[in-house]
Order: sequence, then C-alpha cells, then structure tokens
Amino acid sequence: MIKLIRGFRDILPGQVELWQDIESKARVLLENFGFREIRLPIMESTELFARGIGADTDIVEKEMYTFPDSKGRGQTLRPEATASVVRSYIEHGYAGSDPVQKFYTIGPMFRHERPQKGRYRQFYQINAEMFGVASPLADVQIMYLLHLFFTGLDVPDVVTHVNSLGCPECRPKFREALISFVSDKMDRLCSDCQRRAEANPLRVIDCKVPGCKEAVQGAPSIQDHLCPDCKEHFQAVIEGLDDLNVPYEIDPRLVRGLDYYTRTTFEVQTTLLGAQNAVAGGGRYDGLVKVLGGKETPAIGFAVGFDRLAALLGAEEKDFTVPPALFIAALGEDARKIAFGWLCDFNARGLRAEMDYEGKSLKSQMKQANRFNAGRVLILGENELQNGMAVLRNMNTKEQEEVALDGLTDRVAALINQG
Ligand code: AMP
Repeated sequence: MIKLIRGFRDILPGQVELWQDIESKARVLLENFGFREIRLPIMESTELFARGIGADTDIVEKEMYTFPDSKGRGQTLRPEATASVVRSYIEHGYAGSDPVQKFYTIGPMFRHERPQKGRYRQFYQINAEMFGVASPLADVQIMYLLHLFFTGLDVPDVVTHVNSLGCPECRPKFREALISFVSDKMDRLCSDCQRRAEANPLRVIDCKVPGCKEAVQGAPSIQDHLCPDCKEHFQAVIEGLDDLNVPYEIDPRLVRGLDYYTRTTFEVQTTLLGAQNAVAGGGRYDGLVKVLGGKETPAIGFAVGFDRLAALLGAEEKDFTVPPALFIAALGEDARKIAFGWLCDFNARGLRAEMDYEGKSLKSQMKQANRFNAGRVLILGENELQNGMAVLRNMNTKEQEEVALDGLTDRVAALINQG
C-alpha cells in the first residue's frame, strides 16, 4: 500500500468542516478590517526565502524543500508566506501606486522539520500583511484583529506575548551585549547555538534546548536596549492594546525565528498543545520590502497556524456529518433510472439526496437510509411505478404518504423545504 509521506497528512471529511468554519470566519473578519485576498504560488525561487527570511535561520539552513529546475536554478516550496506577499507587492508596483495595502492569504506551507504533534512538514497558515503604515496604530490594529479572531472562535487558553526587537539603530548594540554574554557560556550551548552565536545571537535566547535555556538565564534584555524611537513605538503599542482591552504579556525573550522582524513582535501561545505552543505569530518587518528590492516600506503581519488552531478547537472529536434530506430507494431497473433523474434534479435544486446505485434489495436500501440518517425516504418499486405513485416516508414521524410521479420532484422538494 502506498502511504502518506512522513510529516504530511490528510484532512478528512468530518474534520474539514471545522477548517471551513474557521476559514470563513477568518475571511469575514479580515475583509471587515479591509484586508483583500491574494493567492500566491506555493513555489518561488530559493533566493527569495534565502534573502527574505535570512540565511542563518533554521528555516533556510535546514528546513526548505528545494529543487533545481531544468536549468539548475533553485526553486523552493514556500516555508512561509510573507516573503511571497512582499515579492508580489513589489512586482505589481503597489509601492508606487498606492503603498498602503492590506492582503491576506490562506494556504499550505512546507518545512522539513522533525514531525511531531502540532508540527507537520506540510501545514497551513492564515496570513495577513499590512504595508505602508509605520504608525503603531497598525500594530495595535493587527493584534486587535487577531484577538477578535481567537475570542470569536472561543479558542481556549491563549495568551498574546509581545516584545520589541528594536531597529537597525538599537539592535546592533543589543546583539553585541548578547554576544559578549554568551561568549563564556559556549560550552553549555547546543551545537546549533555554538555555531550561530556570533552570526545570530538572538536565536540563542530563543533556543528551546533545555541546556541553552538555562545558559541564557540572566541574558541582557532587548527592552533595556531600545532606542528612544523604538521605546516610544512600543509604549504606544502597549497603550493601544490597553485601550482596546486586548490582554497581553510583555515577553522580552520573544525573538521568533525569522530575521526580518523589526520592532513589534508577538506570538499567541497556548499551554494545551505541548511543546508546539505557538498558534500564531507575527510582527513588524520594516526592512523587508527594501531587502527584496522594493522601496523602503514599513509593514507588519501575522500567520495563524491553522493545524494547531483546528487541534485546539477539537477537530478530531466532533462529528460534522450532515445527513441527507432524502434517500431514494428504487427497485428494478426502470425505477432506478427514474430515481436517478430525480436524484439529479434534487441535487441541482440544492437538496442533499442520496440513492443506491447498485440495485440492492429494498431491505438493504432501507438500512442504508438509516445509516445515512436520512430525513425522508422516497420508495419507488414496481407496484408504485404501475400505480403512478411513489411512497414518501418521514423517518422521524414514520408517517407515509403517496406522491404522484407526475410533478414529483416539485412536490417532494416543497415538503422537504416545509421541514
Ligand atoms: P512562523 O512562520 O514560524 O512564525 O509560524 C507561524 C505559525 O505557524 C506558528 O505559530 C504555528 O502555529 C504555525 N506553524 C509553524 N510551523 C509549523 C509546523 N511545522 N507545523 C504546524 N504548524 C506550524
């Protein structure tokens, strides 16, 4: 038997209804906030992610699905959406025509990570990105939107962690302070951190390896190194969240795994998913549009982890099966032909109807109708055909009535619609 690739999964009927529900609520909310959908390819040139996400991040170093095209150029299944949205923003000239743009996109991402609960190699995200607004109002609005989204879905036990990562002005000084802090703790760090301590020391304070977590206790805090502008920005964000009653925790250790973040970063965390505790994350990335070849443009966005959100809302436990309104039981070849015509007619009218396609006995068709939990059964046997009447049985009240074959679908549809 050919099986799923490790780290990939099927989202089956019964689970998918929850995904649809989440997705439609996300769309309504995002569109109310002025975000418009953008659909992007799942494959981009490797350079986009290498430049956008940062060459010495985990994602670019070891998690990308990269394939050469026929000319040997690298192309990569997208590990995240922001770099693609930025590419599209630049490529379609938005910066020149109307730099303030809000986009959202929903779809699969690919990362070659070690699969475990809540961590897949193909996973789904809901992404929102807002371009052209430097004001902290954008940060507040984005985090408020996310808060409304989670509370609207009644997601249990989520807390928004927020931090500032500073800017090109103040971050280098913080980096230096960190490098000097970790320099005499190298032997306590994991091999990844030892390697990246110089190039990317922020990743060391973000490392989940217990030894590293312990070694960085007492590390300098970015909050103590923010320049006056970044401090003011962060203060305004916090005040804005307070004004809108968005609950949050200031978390000076929150750095996140992608290089492009500046100033505000945030993560929605839960204690209910074990080690994979982030359900959404995002932040400001004021430098990225320029890094990817566009004009200097402030921007901010977030990504919700769809798989984790669905797990939190119990996709596995709920049964979303909707029973058909009608099951048609037909006996004999002639009756089955007529029944099939009715079936198509009911379906075209938007009524969920089912029938037996195989010519089973009436008894087994009635069993099938019960298994489907159909609201009504329409019976058409040889006698009924001769009399020009079919029998309609209400499976709840057990009442039966005869319905003339002539004009039957109109009559039955009307009865079903009456309830
Ligand atoms: P990131 O782009 O890493 O900030 O991820 C944003 C969100 O996507 C995270 O908060 C997770 O909820 C989700 N996510 C990231 N990686 C995975 C993965 N491998 N499997 C499932 N969800 C993921």
